Amino acid sequence: MKKSEVIRAWSSILAGRAPSLSIEITKECPLRCPGCYAFDADHLGTGVQLRQLSDFKGDELVRKVLALVDEHKPLHVSLVGGDPLVRYRELDALLPELDARGIYTQIVTSAFRVIPKEWSRFKRLHVSVSIDGLQPEHDERRKPATYERILKSIAGARVFIHCTITSQIADREGYLEEFLRFWSGRPEVVKVWFSLFTPQRGAKDAEILTFAQRDAVLADLKRLRDIYPVLELPEAAIREFASPPKSPEECIFARTTQTISADLTTKITPCQFGGDPDCERCGCFASMGLAAVGSYRVVGPLTAGHLFMASDRVGKAWSKVRGRFTQKPEPVPATPFNIL
Ligand code: SF4
Ligand code: SF4
Repeated sequence: MKKSEVIRAWSSILAGRAPSLSIEITKECPLRCPGCYAFDADHLGTGVQLRQLSDFKGDELVRKVLALVDEHKPLHVSLVGGDPLVRYRELDALLPELDARGIYTQIVTSAFRVIPKEWSRFKRLHVSVSIDGLQPEHDERRKPATYERILKSIAGARVFIHCTITSQIADREGYLEEFLRFWSGRPEVVKVWFSLFTPQRGAKDAEILTFAQRDAVLADLKRLRDIYPVLELPEAAIREFASPPKSPEECIFARTTQTISADLTTKITPCQFGGDPDCERCGCFASMGLAAVGSYRVVGPLTAGHLFMASDRVGKAWSKVRGRFTQKPEPVPATPFNIL
């Protein structure tokens, strides 16, 4: 994140808005990955499951997503699902609109279908392809989005590879290095990102890493970072992985990201995982990356995270007050420029 983006994010928080918006643009996905949080029974926290929601398609989806974006005015939008490539025609219409608004956009997909090469023209677009380890394990968990299909889907495109490390991966010596060796040789790959599997509180999934496994994985990644430049993992992010937020209230990511499900109404809380996530075992790359930005010292012991948290309280209070006086002309919201 550049300094100018931090300032824009800060302005947005002070105005009572989340600078990041994550939209589940479809409830559909051709895959059935074990441990998928989107289709977990508690994901929406309403007793309703994602597949039961009414979602949208065609022009209606495009119109409604843009209306949400124009209402929330985010700096960053994640288009997720289900798998957003299920709605690839709608994405073709949405991406130029988001780009024209100067919004950084991320599409998170299994690449079960071809990623159009023409999307490379959008300089603010990141396409993140989720891969669950090396081919044998991945193909077992993620068919029909097998390695063979992914390699065809990404040909000529620019993608970020995202792998969630599970307990099974963590147990195998040399596995992460083999993974990096494979993907760092691909011309389509801009960077490789790793997350650690994040469970719900009290869950017993086979994918959950022990604390000892987490430590060993982080030490391995720290070593591999120097050998494979394709691995994006700043030192500050490693520190955050080693000591994640204790609760959603302490999580900058959760407090600055609004997640909206496929009916384009239901808000998912406290973060994109929904339900009751076990923050102390959180391994979300995006969350740790943002926490790393938050640890940046602004003055003395005061960090960007302190400013974000305080501003979030001011912004939300301001939003409430503004809501009560909607008939009055709006005062200019506080920004880092006019409060100094
Ligand atoms: S591709 Fe993503 S949304 Fe679809 S089942 Fe797998 S993890 Fe869930
Ligand atoms: S992103 Fe991680 S730390 Fe933040 S609220 Fe979700 S589970 Fe907790």
